[in-house]
Amino acid sequence: MHFVHESLPQCVRFATGGAPDAVRAEVDRLNARRVMVIAGPAAAALAEKVTSELSPVLRHDEVVMHVPVEVAQRTRAAAAAHRVDAIVAVGGGSTTGLAKAVALTTGVPIVAVPTTYAGSEATAVWGLTEAGRKTTGIDPVVLPRAIVYDATLLRGLPVDLSVASGLNALAHCVDSLWAPSADPINAVFAAEGARALHQGLPLVATAPQGLAGLEIALYGAYLAATAFASAGSGLHHKICHVLGGRFDLPHAQTHATVLPYVLAFNAPNAPDAAERLATAFGSPTALAGLQELRRTLHAPRSLRDLGLREADIPVAVTDVVAIAPPSNPTRVTEQNLTGLLLAAWAGADPTDQAPVIDRPAAG
Ligand code: NAD
Repeated sequence: MHFVHESLPQCVRFATGGAPDAVRAEVDRLNARRVMVIAGPAAAALAEKVTSELSPVLRHDEVVMHVPVEVAQRTRAAAAAHRVDAIVAVGGGSTTGLAKAVALTTGVPIVAVPTTYAGSEATAVWGLTEAGRKTTGIDPVVLPRAIVYDATLLRGLPVDLSVASGLNALAHCVDSLWAPSADPINAVFAAEGARALHQGLPLVATAPQGLAGLEIALYGAYLAATAFASAGSGLHHKICHVLGGRFDLPHAQTHATVLPYVLAFNAPNAPDAAERLATAFGSPTALAGLQELRRTLHAPRSLRDLGLREADIPVAVTDVVAIAPPSNPTRVTEQNLTGLLLAAWAGADPTDQAPVIDRPAAG
């Protein structure tokens, strides 16, 4: 065996109904005295509850998806003006992303309290958007020192957002099975994450207040993010990065829509990944299991529904081909990627794409 697996240093607490005490314990562990709470307006009430054991010096609620640079700069200035020594971020990936933008330039430690299944809390990946272009990078300083998962905080997440966000988490599992730094350890996290999400998301969709579904889905989302953090971005993430950054498509819904098309594209040339996913889904094939789950969840169906124009596809193809991982199980060409994106745009049968039998060039 030859592989390098990176485990990230982070304390993870699962504390259903116990976020206030767990957050307090983590802030104490950091010896922090001047806490900044970041939470967007939709999570303001949750943040009040979660930080009820603290006396924050600042509450910041300007949160914008994909972290525009101007928002990051205003937040950094506010943190500096209040001499903040820790950030508690309560919200989805956009909130965690803003906290990471502050940590990137100041080194201020983060305690993340997620309210979606996005998974940013378990990665050292930051992202900033300037003039419509999203830049991402990896820096250990942005990795939250601690995560507090409290399933009760996800009770208010609307079902359509839960579904899209949960499938975004599932995409971390699937893509990490063939991403550039995929390894056997990531694969274990990915397979168990996929199993848990497959079990939990239908429960969340039918009983959004039920803790059993929320807890298992959150556990799956954490494993998914851990697999993704170590394996890196595969073809699926590269496609969604381009679609989100260039065409401003919604993050989680885009992942939820594109996933079956990338799975159909890669599975014939990634039999081990396909078998692991089929087993996780308890289904004859990985794609059949994913599609059955998507039907159960009434998942988003097409990129057209999300606002992409057919005329945008050639630009997207050019951008994705330029960044597609050379190690992708199926060799990416302009022709087969166009087939993939056209099928996803129309919401067609995922197996109805251009031929994908090409294998990568040797080496
Ligand atoms: P988000 O954080 O923008 O949240 C989506 C919506 O849900 C928002 O309107 C928010 O106000 C609302 N919301 C969140 N929690 C809620 C709750 N409990 N109740 C009611 N409403 C709630 O979206 P997201 O999908 O969580 O995150 C997407 C962002 O995170 C993107 O910018 C993406 O690039 C980034 N991301 C980064 C990483 C990484 O590793 N750096 C990983 C995943 C996602």
